[in-house]
Amino acid sequence: MIHGLMQQQPLMISSIIEFAERWFPKVEVVSRSVEGPIHRYTYKDMGRRARQVANVMQTLGINAGDRVATLAWNGYRHLELYYGVSGSGAVLHTVNPRLFKEQLAYVINHAGDRVVFLDLTFVPLLESVADELPNVEKYVILTDREHMPETSLANVHCYEELLEAADSHYQWPTFDENAASSICYTSGTTGNPKGVVYSHRSTLIHALGSSIPNGLSLSGNDSILLVVPQFHVNSWGVSYAAPMNGCKLVLPGPAMDGASLHELMDSERCTLSLAVPTVWMMLTGFLRESGETLPHMKRVVIGGSAVPEAMIRSFETDYDVEVIHAWGMTETSPLGTLNFLMPHLRDLDYEEQMPIKLKQGKSVFGIDIRIVDDENNVLPHDGVAFGRLQARGHWVTSGYYGDENNDVVDSDGWFETGDVATIDEDGYMMITDRTKDVIKSGGEWISSIALENIAVGHPDITEAAVIAMPHPKWDERPLVVAVKNHNSNIDRESLLSYIGESVAKWQVPNDVVFVDELPHGATGKLNKLKLREDFNDYCFPDT
Ligand code: AMP
Repeated sequence: MIHGLMQQQPLMISSIIEFAERWFPKVEVVSRSVEGPIHRYTYKDMGRRARQVANVMQTLGINAGDRVATLAWNGYRHLELYYGVSGSGAVLHTVNPRLFKEQLAYVINHAGDRVVFLDLTFVPLLESVADELPNVEKYVILTDREHMPETSLANVHCYEELLEAADSHYQWPTFDENAASSICYTSGTTGNPKGVVYSHRSTLIHALGSSIPNGLSLSGNDSILLVVPQFHVNSWGVSYAAPMNGCKLVLPGPAMDGASLHELMDSERCTLSLAVPTVWMMLTGFLRESGETLPHMKRVVIGGSAVPEAMIRSFETDYDVEVIHAWGMTETSPLGTLNFLMPHLRDLDYEEQMPIKLKQGKSVFGIDIRIVDDENNVLPHDGVAFGRLQARGHWVTSGYYGDENNDVVDSDGWFETGDVATIDEDGYMMITDRTKDVIKSGGEWISSIALENIAVGHPDITEAAVIAMPHPKWDERPLVVAVKNHNSNIDRESLLSYIGESVAKWQVPNDVVFVDELPHGATGKLNKLKLREDFNDYCFPDT
């Protein structure tokens, strides 16, 4: 073997902001600030302030490898922390403020965070748990002197004051690309949340891998409204991929309602936006009521949970916006698969394309997936066989933070996603369930997600969850728990017969219960564990 003669440079997150500052100095970052007004500056400004943040790390006594937490909305200051903290060699822990208080204290303590940077919004939340955070030495409030609040938090600093005092000269250090850059905790519907630790290398390769045309297809022509929170899986990596590609970045702050999002989409001429279905539901609701349109938007990326068919149709038919359905998880950085139509499928008519669009999509280079049965036999790509979905690749986790038994991947490096899926002959993967949510009826599996998708397709249903309930004859049978639209008087029989039009008779649920709302977890996903607890005493009418 002879060695190649190419240069070896460690892959560093700081190289992204250095690049954007030098080559896209005038491209804007626009933020709706927590204080109210719209803030705008450029990648040149951001690069300078990220260097100041890195100097602030020294002022605060933060060394390489130390953990620094954020509790913040999407905004320019949070973005500066993404680069300033990780670029200096410290590890950014983006805490999800929607966690229950006990979980919030748990993740901050478990990560060993020494300093917490927080938005004004979260001062009361931190005050209420501060007593349980023995390792936190300092709090930095992400605002200026004028807006600094009265607070019972100890050792409080003002972000803008710290930055003002910091030198804007800083040489980004170069170190092992496998060093940790950030930590995100999984939402943990069972047990404690688990810490996924990203490295500079994995983050950089993920940003490259997600930028390509078969990925998010990013370019300097894009103005991106980043709705997916910077506290959830590194904002799907877009806080890194956008400056890398010279995209304008628009950050909505705390205002996630349809009207506020639309206002930014319009004024900033956004061409791409990324969010979970719940957010899109609010936006399309607003568009319907107000009669507004989306003249600049070209594509929306929807992931985090399955995209309802009605949502795809609404975006594509009513507003001429392409929907890109994506699947991923905290453990996969998050990009796993993206749904882009291959040329032979583009020739099909829209109705024939729809079943494909509903799938979660194909792997992009850098991450591989497969499905296996209970004996770990690899299942065929025939679109019918379904089994446990596994993933491996440059940006897939190999273990959890502080977990000695780190045995989450098998000897070949395959990570168990906890999802159940099919993969068709063109490689389109479709999630049929979570392993623990699938309904096992008389030895056959029924997909709870498939039934939920059908139920929410009914015009009178706002949201629906399907859970397995014990049944004396079939072991388990499906129960629909649904939220009706206002003023609807849809009943059990009509919803069941509607579902019956789309599935085999044995898959039709045994009952429907209407509720005012369904329980959700910290990332907006349905909390089926809580729902199952709520229905602990439930019995089917036929038993
Ligand atoms: P999280 O780590 O909180 O982002 O959750 C990851 C999980 O969300 C995955 O394992 C899936 O169960 C679910 N998920 C993500 N994207 C999709 C999607 N497009 N369709 C269905 N489920 C999804």
